[in-house]
Amino acid sequence: MKPIPFARPELGKAEQAAAARALASGWITQGPEVAAFEREFAEFVGAPHACAVSSATAALHLALRAVGVGPHDEVITVSHSFIATANAIRYCGARPVFVDVERRTGNMDPTCIERAITPNTRAILCVHQLGLPCDIAAIVDIGRRAGLAVIEDAACAVGSEIFVNGRWERIGRPHGDIACFSFHPRKLVTTGDGGMLTTASAKWNERFRLWRQHGMSVPDTVRHGSPSIIFEDYPVLGFNYRMTDLQAAVGREQLKRLPALLADRRRRAARYAELLADIPGVDLPPALAWARTNWQSYRIGLPDGVDQRATMQRLLDDGIPTRRGVMCAHREASYGDADWSCGAGPGPCGCPGAHCERLRESERAQDRTILLPLYPGMTDDDQDRVASALARAWQPQGTSSCRV
Ligand SMILES: *Cc1c(COP(=O)(O)O)cnc(C)c1O
Repeated sequence: MKPIPFARPELGKAEQAAAARALASGWITQGPEVAAFEREFAEFVGAPHACAVSSATAALHLALRAVGVGPHDEVITVSHSFIATANAIRYCGARPVFVDVERRTGNMDPTCIERAITPNTRAILCVHQLGLPCDIAAIVDIGRRAGLAVIEDAACAVGSEIFVNGRWERIGRPHGDIACFSFHPRKLVTTGDGGMLTTASAKWNERFRLWRQHGMSVPDTVRHGSPSIIFEDYPVLGFNYRMTDLQAAVGREQLKRLPALLADRRRRAARYAELLADIPGVDLPPALAWARTNWQSYRIGLPDGVDQRATMQRLLDDGIPTRRGVMCAHREASYGDADWSCGAGPGPCGCPGAHCERLRESERAQDRTILLPLYPGMTDDDQDRVASALARAWQPQGTSSCRV
C-alpha cells in the first residue's frame, strides 16, 4: 500500500501569489511585508509587540540577551527538547541547567525548578513541547518569586491556548516575559525558515529590532524613504537575523489558514483517541482542563516491554512513518561535558554520558514514546490504517491481526 506522509506543510496558490507579489514589489528583504506579518501575528496571539527574525533559534538567542543572560550565568531549561533550546543558552556563553519533565505531558516539571536555582541563575527557559502548553502559570510564579526572567520556547505552539484569568488565551501574549515561535516547515505555520518574538516590553521590542539588523540605528526602510541624507550608525553589536519580505508574505497567508488547520487537527486528534482507546498499554495524550494543544504532533506512550525501534520499523513496513520521542540534548556528544550534562554537574548519576538519573523522565520520554502521522488532508482511511497497523505491530509476527 502507498505510504502515507508523516507531516507536511500546507502551501498552495495563496502562498505562491504572495511570494510573487513580494518579488514583483522590488523590495524583497525585511520591509513592508515583514511589518504587516508582525502586526497580524501580534493580533492573532494577543501580544502587544511582535518582532520577526530568521528562525526560532535566533529568537531564543535575542530573548536570552534581552533579559541579560551572559557568560557564567545559568539558565534553567529542559534537556528533553529540540537541541536549539539548549544551544541558544550556550550562544550567550551561559550554562543550560537541565531539569526533568513530567511523564504525563513531556513538559518541564515545575517541582524540579526550585532545587536547580543557584546564585548564578538568571532565567528559566521553558518549552511548550510539540505544541502542548507547559505549566506556565506555575513556572512564572516560581520565576517571579526568585527574581528570574521567564522565556517561553513556543517554537511549536502557534495556536495553542491556556485558560487564565477566566478565559482562553493563546500562547504568545506572552505569559512569561518573551515568547519565541518557529516557522520551520515542521511547524503549523511556515515561511521556509523564520521566527517571531512576542513581548509586552516596548524596550525589548526595540532591542530586538536593533539586534536583528546588525545593530543599525536607522533601518534601511527609513533611509530609503527619506528626502534628506541620513547616515546610520552602529551603537551596539548586532546580528543578521532578518526575515525577508518573501518569507513574511508567505507567512501572512499561512496565518489565514491557521484557524481551519487547528480545527482539522483537533478533529483528527479526537478521532485518534477513539481509534486507539482499546489498544492495551498505549498511553494517549493527556486531556488538561487548562490547556489546548495545537496538535503539532500526536504523541503516544508505548506499552511496557515493546521495543520502540522495532515498533517504528513494523509500522514503516506497513507504509506508516513515525518519529521517535523528542530528543534529549544531554545525551548528544555536543553536550557530553559534565559542565552542563545534568542539573548539578557531575554527580552520583554518572553524568556525562548517555544516562542521567536526574533526567529519568526525559530519557524515558525519548525512548518510550513515538509520534504518529498527522497532516493537513489526512483522511479517515489513513487514520484507520495507522490504528490497525499499530494494533498489529505488537503481535507476534504471522498471527492474525483480527481484533474481536
Ligand atoms: C523547531 C524548534 C526549535 C527551532 O526552531 P528553528 O526555527 O528551526 O530555529 C526550537 N525549539 C523547539 C522546541 C523546536 O521544536
